[in-house]
Amino acid sequence: MPEKKTCSTCESSECSALNQKSEESLDEFLERRQLQSRLCRIKHKVLVLSGKGGVGKSTVAVNFAVALSLAGRSVGLLDLDIHGPSVPRMLDLEGASLQHDNDVLIPVQLGALRIMSIGFLLSAPDQAVIWRGPMKTGVTRQFIKDVAWGELDYLVIDCPPGTGDEPLSVAQLIPDADGAVIVTTPQEVALADVRKCLDFCRQLDVPVLGVIENMSGFACPKCGEVVDIFKKGGGERIATEMGVPFAGCIPIDAAVVASGDQGRPFAYHNKGGPGAQAFARVAEVLLERIENHPRCGEV
Ligand code: ADP
Repeated sequence: MPEKKTCSTCESSECSALNQKSEESLDEFLERRQLQSRLCRIKHKVLVLSGKGGVGKSTVAVNFAVALSLAGRSVGLLDLDIHGPSVPRMLDLEGASLQHDNDVLIPVQLGALRIMSIGFLLSAPDQAVIWRGPMKTGVTRQFIKDVAWGELDYLVIDCPPGTGDEPLSVAQLIPDADGAVIVTTPQEVALADVRKCLDFCRQLDVPVLGVIENMSGFACPKCGEVVDIFKKGGGERIATEMGVPFAGCIPIDAAVVASGDQGRPFAYHNKGGPGAQAFARVAEVLLERIENHPRCGEV
């Protein structure tokens, strides 16, 4: 089916992008219309956020996208983590480069999954991104507006960490997202940032779909004793305190590290490990919440 270029061809008389608003210029209107024409063909948009880096946000984004795909949904995964795009490595796509057709970016197809990453822009995986704010905003905008996803059930968006300009641009460009999945680890230094992340969602009116406490306890594979290396329970406590849903805990599991490093997502390649099993329960909770309770979990 040919790609619809603008909302003028979707024939909906209720589309909010049909008419120019009094306060916007023609360029702004045309851009909003193009953005809308991309996003309105995607049923569910899920932002994956974290208060800080290194807590497992990309691991969750990749494996949630894979889990949704295994559940029979058509899924796109958009990696907007400008300074640390790990999706190419986590899916063994480091050699992939950005493909385009005129002004449209073509996602990489991996099985049933469609993937686009800012990492595909970089000529080498070790290349650092040294861009000033407006350039970062411009690239983020382009990756949201110009990717030819086609029709999708889900777009999972791996957002930049924190609550600065970059995640702000993402949240503003996708105002109709179903909500955000917030990933944290249980120790206090991470929890302080997750409070800010929840406040960020509240201020921007992004519903919280669930807080995930990652790296929550470690079961020794030899003796089975559980050691709470980063403590335990803080993610759930904060979710309760701030009145948002908790999606569950994922323990520390060496197989999770190996799967990320080898580009073999555990949700597909290693479903039996403790990390993968816990993750499967979390993914089920999120899927149920998104599909059966739309716009739930508003902060
Ligand atoms: P972020 O996107 O928040 O920066 P990543 O998803 O890149 O974090 O994860 C950082 C590192 O932690 C990766 O090496 C990843 O494999 C590892 N990791 C994530 N979750 C777990 C877990 N539950 N158990 C063990 N290692 C994990």
